[in-house]
Amino acid sequence: MNWITNYVRPTINSLFSRREVPENLWTKCSECGTMLFHRELSDNLQVCLNCNHHLAISPRERFNALFDAGTFAEVSVPEPVADPLHFRDQKRYPDRLKAAQKANNEREAMLVVEGEIGRTPVVAAAQNFAFMGGSMGMYVGNAIIAACERAVERRVPLILFAAAGGARMQEGILSLMQMPRTTVALAMLKEAGLPYICVLTHPTTGGVTASYAMLGDVQIAEPNALICFAGPRVIEQTIREKLPEGFQRAEYLLDHGMLDRVTHRKDMRDELITITRMLMGQPPAIHGELPAPDPADTPQAADEAQAAEAPAAEPDPKP
Ligand SMILES: [Zn+2]
Repeated sequence: MNWITNYVRPTINSLFSRREVPENLWTKCSECGTMLFHRELSDNLQVCLNCNHHLAISPRERFNALFDAGTFAEVSVPEPVADPLHFRDQKRYPDRLKAAQKANNEREAMLVVEGEIGRTPVVAAAQNFAFMGGSMGMYVGNAIIAACERAVERRVPLILFAAAGGARMQEGILSLMQMPRTTVALAMLKEAGLPYICVLTHPTTGGVTASYAMLGDVQIAEPNALICFAGPRVIEQTIREKLPEGFQRAEYLLDHGMLDRVTHRKDMRDELITITRMLMGQPPAIHGELPAPDPADTPQAADEAQAAEAPAAEPDPKP
């Protein structure tokens, strides 16, 4: 033992030892393969800085960017019956659900909130593709009904961000029943004369596109989002033909009259503000600060002017 082993080596080791590196600092773009730094990516709303590909974004992150000052309140969703079929594949359904809840830190595949965008009150719902493929089960059905009821109660528009792989197989026919249920809930909104704006994100597929995802008064999609009922591979195998370039992508659907707009995620907020205000019969949104009011125009100034004139017009009633 000498000072080298006792002092120098531990000091060198501590200087060069591996620091704890948090995982997931880098994300690989699924379209162009570029490695993207997580902070840059979240600053850019999860849009690839290299190729503009729109990566998945969690409902909470989306709402933070969407609502004024990132403020929103959650709308409570009634809890459905747990695992009615006692479904089991490689894992039991309740276990699979628990794992997804832990991984996403969310209760289920849809989040319903209310708040203001551009000072316009709205109810918004977003589906989380990371949560069991955003699959539509009983909870998602309940969430859409809760969102519609809340929108009708407050007389505000509903904005829904769809992302789904289809119905939740673990709930069997009960998941398919969410298609008519959500359709009826949206009809309630229509009867109340309130707008329903649907934003389709990558990917929106399966039963969702046979119900609420295609019933919007205005249908918007994010660029290059895959939107379909049956996927391109299934169709290709069935009809045994090569499908055209960009088939079932947002731009293709826009060209063929299935969508109203394809909007970049960065412009989505402004676009939604414009559309909701227009459909609610409100004046256009004000950008920036309002000009200072002219003192002569304020009601108070008018009252004062009247008060000053009053004695001249009406002489004091003297006995
Ligand atoms: Zn990319």
